[in-house]
Amino acid sequence: MTQSKAIAETRVLTEVESKEMLKAAGLPVVDTRLACSKKEAVSISREIGFPVVLKVMSADVVHKSDSGGVKLGLANSAQVEKAYSAIMSSVKGAYPEAKIQGVSVQSMARPGVEVIVGMSRDPQFGPVLMFGLGGVLVELLKDVSFRIVPVSKADAAEMIREIKGFPMLEGFRGSEPADLGALEKLIVGVSEFIERNPQVKELDLNPVFAYKDGVVAVDARVIAES
Ligand code: ADP
Ligand code: MG
Repeated sequence: MTQSKAIAETRVLTEVESKEMLKAAGLPVVDTRLACSKKEAVSISREIGFPVVLKVMSADVVHKSDSGGVKLGLANSAQVEKAYSAIMSSVKGAYPEAKIQGVSVQSMARPGVEVIVGMSRDPQFGPVLMFGLGGVLVELLKDVSFRIVPVSKADAAEMIREIKGFPMLEGFRGSEPADLGALEKLIVGVSEFIERNPQVKELDLNPVFAYKDGVVAVDARVIAES
C-alpha cells in the first residue's frame, strides 16, 4: 500500500483523567486523585479526609465494580490498606492480563438519587445526550430520554420530566426531592462541553448523585479521539 489514510485513534480516558477534564469545564465531579501504591493511597486519603472510596485504575477494566474494583466508605488508614490489597487481588483474579495503574482515591459522597447523563454520536444526528435514573432502572427498564446537542435549558427540563421514573426525583414516598435546576444546569453544561470538545466521542456520567441542593458525578468516562 502506497497510500495510507489517517485513521483517528480513540482512547478511553481513565476515571481520573475524565473527571479532570470535566472539572476544568466547570462540571460538578467528586475530586479524584490517582494513587500508584498502597502508601500513596493512604496519604491521599488522609489529605482528602475520611471516609473515602478506592477504585481500580486500569485501561483494561471498564466496569470497575464488577471485578471487585470498588471499595466504598473506608473510614481509616487501615481500611484503605486492606481495600487496596483486596482490589489488587480480586482484579488480578478476574483479569490476569490487566495492566493496573493503581487506584483512584476520592471522598465518599453522601447518598442521593442516582441518575446518569451520557453522550454518544449518531451517524445522522451527531452528538445525542441521554438522561435517566441510575442503577438497575436504566439497565432493566431502559427508562431514558434523548435530545440532540445543543440541548437548551427547556429541552433539559423536558428530558428530566419525560422519564417514567420522574416521581423518584420529585421525592417519592418521602424521599428527598432532587434539585431539578441543578440537573438541568448539568445537562446544559454537558451539551456545551460537547460542542466545545468535538474530539470527545462518548461520555458517561454514571452515576451522578442528585441532592436537594446540587448534584455531583461520582463516576465519569470520556472516550476521545487522540
Ligand atoms: P463502575 O465502573 O462499576 O461503574 P463506579 O465508579 O460507578 O464503578 O462505582 C460503583 C458504584 O459505587 C456507583 O454506582 C455508586 O453507587 C458508588 N460510588 C462510586 N463512587 C462513589 C463515591 N465517590 N461516593 C459514594 N458512592 C460512590
Ligand atoms: Mg459507574
